[in-house]
Amino acid sequence: MPNMSLNKVPMPTQEPQVRCHNFDEVTTGYTEEMAIEEANRCLHCKNKPCVSGCPVNVNIPDFIEQVKQGNFEEAYNIISVTSSLPAVCGRVCPQESQCEKHCVRGIKGEPVAIGRLERFVADWHREHNQAIIEKPQSNGHKVAIVGAGPAGLTCAGDLAKKGYEVTVFEALHVAGGVLMYGIPEFRLPKEIVQKEIENLKALGVNIITNFVVGRSDTIDALQEEGYEAIFIGSGAGLPNFMNLEGENLKGVYSANEFLTRINLMKAYQPDSSTPIQHPKKCVVVGGGNVAMDAARSAKRLGAEVHVVYRRSLEELPARKEEVEHAMEEGIIFDLLTNPTKVLGNEEGWINGVECIRMELGEPDASGRRRPIEVQGSEFVIDCDCMIMSIGTSPNPLIRSTTQGLETNRKGCIVVDDSGKTSRDGIYAGGDAVTGAATVISAMGAGKKAAASIDELLSK
Ligand code: FAD
Ligand code: SF4
Repeated sequence: MPNMSLNKVPMPTQEPQVRCHNFDEVTTGYTEEMAIEEANRCLHCKNKPCVSGCPVNVNIPDFIEQVKQGNFEEAYNIISVTSSLPAVCGRVCPQESQCEKHCVRGIKGEPVAIGRLERFVADWHREHNQAIIEKPQSNGHKVAIVGAGPAGLTCAGDLAKKGYEVTVFEALHVAGGVLMYGIPEFRLPKEIVQKEIENLKALGVNIITNFVVGRSDTIDALQEEGYEAIFIGSGAGLPNFMNLEGENLKGVYSANEFLTRINLMKAYQPDSSTPIQHPKKCVVVGGGNVAMDAARSAKRLGAEVHVVYRRSLEELPARKEEVEHAMEEGIIFDLLTNPTKVLGNEEGWINGVECIRMELGEPDASGRRRPIEVQGSEFVIDCDCMIMSIGTSPNPLIRSTTQGLETNRKGCIVVDDSGKTSRDGIYAGGDAVTGAATVISAMGAGKKAAASIDELLSK
């Protein structure tokens, strides 16, 4: 008999008053008993609606069936046919708008906790499986990957499994992309990301860090060096700003800089060589996942944090769970509010943000109701820190140093259905193509390009 409870088995979670003072993971994961209980909520539907909602088509009912039976390693094998980073996806994928959105149990009650089960299975495998990964025999073909984020790493892994000699060129000193420098430790422990990268290295993937393609070497030079195909997965790491008066005052950060200092450089630890301001009162501008991460990180540094977002709670684009966690942790949401000016003192430091109240008008091109300023409603939030989190774009370095690489007006690389760019032998995917998106869509693009590169080179 299936478990007909309307609710998911609750996820063990650190208490808000405790976790807002540490960087440890907020949710601690299901036990074996909890996972089996939750798996028993799955009806193993014949038409598998959940699978159609998964961008990489993980065989969800079959892996959940194995969890029900307590065959956790078999469950892992089923997931890893299509997903190369299940411990990451189980933690950060927006399941509520993907697989879980289509789950029939969600019609009356909560959907099956597919993400939590995926995370459980991946963690179980990491803790119990000691099998040594064997490097496949080389097929003699050399492929270069630009960028070691989820798109590049997935492409690298799929090609390495087929025997390609893969070299990943990464600008930073650590591989992982946003998984390492953007998403905080309390949502995605870095140890997990590094374990996935170790597995890729065991497959034979060569990762060269501190290598900025476009500076250290160009794409054309890599082709001349004998790389028969190149995949560009360089992401969209260039922060957008609002060009407000006072935006270049000290204490105003892009979310990327603030989060990189904290996550990659561990600036919150007393022995870190990278400094970070410990703000007293911080304004975070934006409403996406990045804004939630910046706000919750600032909270952990001891600040009172205000999220300033120009639309209402309904339009807030961040994952529901992240917004709930942020609210529990005491983040203050100033909704229907937009900054108009950054105020500063004589030493050049920010000391406040002038804001204006907004109301929602008719839907705009994005389908969301357009925010309109309420004249005369200006007010000031006193603060000593402001974090701009209003989106990012691809860095122009690669497009400006690669002849004939077609990009669109947003600076994103243009590809066809196979992931191929306007240049022969050069493929691209992930945020570099779509603009800021999701981990799973970047992985899907890396997978697709790997299949296309294999088709090209195995002819
Ligand atoms: P990236 O992860 O950006 O990786 C690109 C890599 O390329 C980087 O390591 C970069 O250093 C390197 N690079 C760039 N230029 C060069 C160059 N010239 N030479 C060599 N290397 C280069 N998505 C979710 O699904 N769920 C979430 O909860 C979520 N939260 C997020 C939180 C934050 C703070 C941020 C910033 C993003 C979040 N995202 C989330 C989005 C998600 O992380 C990205 O969509 C995803 O990482 C894109 O993968 P990618 O491989 O295309 O690019
Ligand atoms: Fe199980 Fe829900 Fe998928 Fe049906 S839709 S197979 S209940 S996870």
